[in-house]
Amino acid sequence: MTNGKAATINIWMFAATFSFFSLSCGGSLGINLFPDSKDIELGKQIDQEIRKTPKEYPLLKDRPDVKAYVEHIGRKILASPDIVKRGIYAYQFEIIKDDSTINAFCTPGGYIYVYTGLLKFVDNEATLAGVIGHEIAHAEKRHATRRMTAALGYQIVLSVLLGGNPGETEKIAGNLFTGLALLRNSRGDEEEADNFSIKYLRSTEYYPGGIRYFFEKIGGTGGRGGAFQRFLSTHPLPQDRIHNVTKQVQFLGYPEPTENNIFSVRYAEFKNRLP
Ligand SMILES: [Zn+2]
Repeated sequence: MTNGKAATINIWMFAATFSFFSLSCGGSLGINLFPDSKDIELGKQIDQEIRKTPKEYPLLKDRPDVKAYVEHIGRKILASPDIVKRGIYAYQFEIIKDDSTINAFCTPGGYIYVYTGLLKFVDNEATLAGVIGHEIAHAEKRHATRRMTAALGYQIVLSVLLGGNPGETEKIAGNLFTGLALLRNSRGDEEEADNFSIKYLRSTEYYPGGIRYFFEKIGGTGGRGGAFQRFLSTHPLPQDRIHNVTKQVQFLGYPEPTENNIFSVRYAEFKNRLP
């Protein structure tokens, strides 16, 4: 990922490769051959690349209060008893100053990035907590290295069948998954991350289905516009995700949320302070 073009090509290669693998290998069987140390290493690499590319990822450095506010929400989620990689993964937060991107992402190993476009888009703290919980789940459930396992397994099988060098093939497959291409999640991964977001938020002061408001609002854009497309580039958004979240929260027996668990008033104050 040396420039925007390279990253885009990587993502397209990944998307093409992954859609093929997911058809041929069943995609999310949950097998992950990589150790935790691989997630940690990949996260560190991507974090370094992001810090070296301020043109594409302008970090909000002059407003530690904004980062602190987001991190405070994140820490409440990370205190959930359902978080298993606490103390193992980095779980660091950064804000990217880009109002035109309504998105957040999390690398393997737990480096979490939130765009100012997302902070300005959402209307209450529970929604932001829901999205952050979703991102944390991608790291906790190790979705990127799980997808790498599926793809690499296929590559190795292919190389043996064709009499190639498995070492070489592994290197090629590794290159396909560099940088942010790793962060392109499958639909199955998305649903799992939604479910775990609800689970994590149950131990917080937030309404656990907060992410639903995000889906409803972004769905209201009619699926048009660049911001929506950029969101889709890392998070496929089928309509049934909204139904899934609603169903899960109802199943848990939560009543409709109130100001006491969505915090729209103090969120509006925070939004007013945003640069
Ligand atoms: Zn996602």
